[in-house]
Amino acid sequence: MKTFEELGISPALLQAIRELGFENPMPVQEAVIPLLLADRTDIVALAQTGTGKTAAFGLPIIEQVDITNKKPQALILCPTRELCLQIAGDLNDFSKYVADLKVLPVYGGSNIESQINALKKGVHIVVATPGRLQDLINRGAIKLGEVSKVVLDEADEMLNMGFQESIDNILQEVPEDRNTLLFSATMPKEIANIAKNYMTNPKEVTIGHKNVANENVKHSYYIVQARDKYLALKRIADYNPNVYGIIFCRTRKETQEIADKLIQDGYNADSLHGDLSQTQRDYVMQKFRLRNIQLLVATDVAARGLDVDDLTHIINYGLPEDAEVYTHRSGRTGRAGKTGISISIINLKEKGKIKDIEKKINRPFEKANIPNGREICERQLFSMVDKMERVDIADDEIDSYLPVIYRKLEWLSKEEVIKRFVSLQFNRFLDYYRNAPELSLPDEKGERSRDKDDRKKGSRKAEKGFTRMFINIGKIDGLYPNHIIEMINDCMPKDRINIGRIDLMKTFSFFEVESGSADRLIKELKRLSYNGRKVSVEVAQDSNDDKDKKPKKGSGKKGGSGRRSYR
Ligand code: AMP
Repeated sequence: MKTFEELGISPALLQAIRELGFENPMPVQEAVIPLLLADRTDIVALAQTGTGKTAAFGLPIIEQVDITNKKPQALILCPTRELCLQIAGDLNDFSKYVADLKVLPVYGGSNIESQINALKKGVHIVVATPGRLQDLINRGAIKLGEVSKVVLDEADEMLNMGFQESIDNILQEVPEDRNTLLFSATMPKEIANIAKNYMTNPKEVTIGHKNVANENVKHSYYIVQARDKYLALKRIADYNPNVYGIIFCRTRKETQEIADKLIQDGYNADSLHGDLSQTQRDYVMQKFRLRNIQLLVATDVAARGLDVDDLTHIINYGLPEDAEVYTHRSGRTGRAGKTGISISIINLKEKGKIKDIEKKINRPFEKANIPNGREICERQLFSMVDKMERVDIADDEIDSYLPVIYRKLEWLSKEEVIKRFVSLQFNRFLDYYRNAPELSLPDEKGERSRDKDDRKKGSRKAEKGFTRMFINIGKIDGLYPNHIIEMINDCMPKDRINIGRIDLMKTFSFFEVESGSADRLIKELKRLSYNGRKVSVEVAQDSNDDKDKKPKKGSGKKGGSGRRSYR
């Protein structure tokens, strides 16, 4: 392995990076720095965040800036405002001992006038999000005619975020003989196209394997019943008392709901998603960076800007559709040489995706069992005892209180004192898990045959004069036949409706009602919610009533604001 000096880094920069704690170059730096310093090779680097890529392109760029020329000489494009600020901050740190070097971050959502003023005063390196840069170009506020180095950082993310057109336009504005560097965690076709269209004989540098997840990350999955996902999440959090991680959800709504539940249940959690204002997002991210939050529940898009190195866990609350999204998520742990764990909580239906992801990332997943109450209590207990052993003791401040305390506790033996202090903290877990039922695992074979049985029952024809209805609640919701009868009677108290056969399935049910009341009943029933679930009713597919061949249009839609809660 070469040293930074051997790679050609000058003393001013060496001193700055030494102060940052960089002793030896990371692999991407060893590969990229000499290429950029020696000649103007275009480079496509497959490297994830956390591999040290900012210094890989940042140090040679700073080395080559002509301070006397106050026009932008290097342009770094990146997908988010947070990454933009992060890169600009890193470049400022690296150039601490390079007098008069100006780095300007330009990004959307902040005052464009102040960015224009800063540009007028002269900058050497511009770090930009594509949308805002395009805006500045359109206003004639920035000239890129002297740019000799262009970096496309997290290129795959920029394309995912729809910046292809802006990137195309921007690249028209920079001189053709520039040196272009492209960094990407994955290599989809579109990235290969950028390399083909805008780069000259690029050299490919791969840190790790193509589309392969970080080797320092262990991947495991838990299969649970869909309704138990949240309980499983709680158990995993309880089993890892020192967890510092991101829980990825698929939608903003789910993100908020899971965060709200965790907070209500006493966890140190918060949410990050696109429904929050930029100020709120900044606030949450800052709290998370400072570790004032242990569990951040986030959507993929909102978490993009967050750069935190020492996450212990990534928790996938369900798997993403796309294996590349999984690579991005899991790549947020196990950074800078540390190890990390990527956990997926899935239901049976998602199991097939595990195989696909394993193939794409070329790493195996380990099937894990949800810890039981006893295992969790044991982990919590030892973690607490461990903390107690390592706690800092402010002798000066507590000494004066101790004689009174000793006197008060004189009647207790050492064992008793320990037991009581431990109980003080630990009772919360004991209480919760003492009576908590263990989560039942879905039984794959049983599930399939039950599904088959359910479908058979579902296709039964209704009695003559009756319509067979489908309702989206079942045994899993604690439903009994009398509940269906009560609901129907409650909905239409003035009518005497004849109710026929009722078939309860696991997650849904069927019931028959006299055909004349079917339409009105659909309207009324969907105003209900049952055990917190919105009720949806439609005519069953195989009902023998002519008009019932298809579910009625709109019958499964959400009810209006007047929805009544049932049970
Ligand atoms: P990056 O991929 O550029 O976001 O870098 C990931 C982390 O590694 C950052 O916290 C950097 O400060 C750190 N880092 C980068 N290069 C080195 C190095 N040579 N030695 C130690 N840490 C480094």
